[in-house]
Amino acid sequence: GQCVAVCPTGALVEVDNVPKVWRALEEKGKTVVVQVAPAVRVAIGELFGMEPGTVVTGKLVSALKNLGFDYVFDTDFAADLTIMEEAHEMIERIKENKNLPILTSCCPAWVKFFEHQFPDLLDIPSTCKSPHEMFGAVTKHYFAQKMGIPEKDMIVVSVMPCVAKKYEAERPELEFGGVKDVDIVITTRELGRMIKEAGINFNMLDDEEYDNPLGESTGAAVIFGTTGGVIEAALRTAAEMITGNELESVDFHAVRGLAGLREAQVQVGDLTLNIAVAHGLGNARTLLESIRRGESKYHAIEIMACPGGCIGGGGQPYHHGNLEILRQRAAGIYAIDENFTIRKSHENPAIQELYAKFLGEPGGELSHKLLHTSYFERKK
Ligand code: SF4
Repeated sequence: GQCVAVCPTGALVEVDNVPKVWRALEEKGKTVVVQVAPAVRVAIGELFGMEPGTVVTGKLVSALKNLGFDYVFDTDFAADLTIMEEAHEMIERIKENKNLPILTSCCPAWVKFFEHQFPDLLDIPSTCKSPHEMFGAVTKHYFAQKMGIPEKDMIVVSVMPCVAKKYEAERPELEFGGVKDVDIVITTRELGRMIKEAGINFNMLDDEEYDNPLGESTGAAVIFGTTGGVIEAALRTAAEMITGNELESVDFHAVRGLAGLREAQVQVGDLTLNIAVAHGLGNARTLLESIRRGESKYHAIEIMACPGGCIGGGGQPYHHGNLEILRQRAAGIYAIDENFTIRKSHENPAIQELYAKFLGEPGGELSHKLLHTSYFERKK
C-alpha cells in the first residue's frame, strides 16, 4: 500500500511517491528521465543544513545522477517553451482585444480554484500546459523518438516544490496519444529523503551539469520559481516580439517583491500594458471578481497559489510562513537569472532548435496538440 503524509497546509493528504520512484529506477528496460523545477535549487540545500536561497543546482544534478536517473533535465527548459507559447497567445489576444486579461496557468492549485469558483471565466486563462507537463510531452514525443526509445519505455519523474502537481499529473487531459505527459511527481522534501536514504553526502558532491538538449535554459525560465517571474519572463519575450527591437533592460522591477497584489504599467512600443501579479488565492479572488464585474483594466495577470510563488510551495522545506526565508530563496532565484548570459526565452538555442526541427511555430498545430490544454467546470 501507499504511505501518506499530511501536507503542511493541512488541506490535503499527500501521497508518498518515493517508493514509486525507487521501483521505476529498478525496473528493467525503462529509461527514467528526471526534471527539476526552478524553485527546488534554491531551497533543497536547507534540508542539508545550508542557508535558504543557497544555489545548489550543480549538486542537485550530481545527486540525481548518483540516484541512477538516466537523464537529468531541467524544467527550466520547458519554462522557456511555456513562454514562447504564452507570449504568442498573449500577443494574439491583445491584437484581437479578445479573452483579456490573459491569466497564467502554470499553478495547478490556482487552475483548480478557478475551475471550481469561476467557471464563467474559463476562456481567459492561458491554454498553455504548465512547464513540467510540456516537458513530459516533449520528452516522450520528441526526445524519445530522437533517441530511438519507445514512448512506453520512458518514465518521466518531476521534482517539484509543489504538492498540487501530484494531482495535476493525474488530470486525464494531460496526455497525448494515450501516453501520460508525466508519470511520477515527487516534492523537494521527498527528493531530500531519497538522497539521505541512498547515503549520498549532498554537501560533499561536486557540481555537475544538466544533460542536453532538454537541460538548456535561460534566466527568464528560472524566475518562474518566484511570484512575478512568469509575467516578467513573458514580458521579456512579448515586448521583443511586438516591437522587433531589443529591450534596453530585461529587469521589470515593478512586478517583483512579496506584496500580495502588485500592478505595473509597461510601455511596449505604442502599447501600454497593464499587468497584475497576485500570490495567495484570496488575492486572486479579488482580481477575478473585478474581472467578472467587467471592471478589470489588465491585459495580463500572473497568479500563484502559494505565498511567494513556488519558492514557498507546499513541497518545499518548511518555511513556517517566515518571510525572510522566502526573501532569501527569491534572492537566490534572481541571482541565477543575473548570472545567465541569455536571459530571454526566445534566445534559448535548444528552444529555437525544437521549433525548427519539430514543433514549427509557437501556437502552431503541433504545439496545440502537445503543449496546450483545456479547463472544465468542477462542482463545488
Ligand atoms: Fe504549486 Fe504553489 Fe507553485 Fe502553485 S504556487 S505551482 S501550488 S508550488
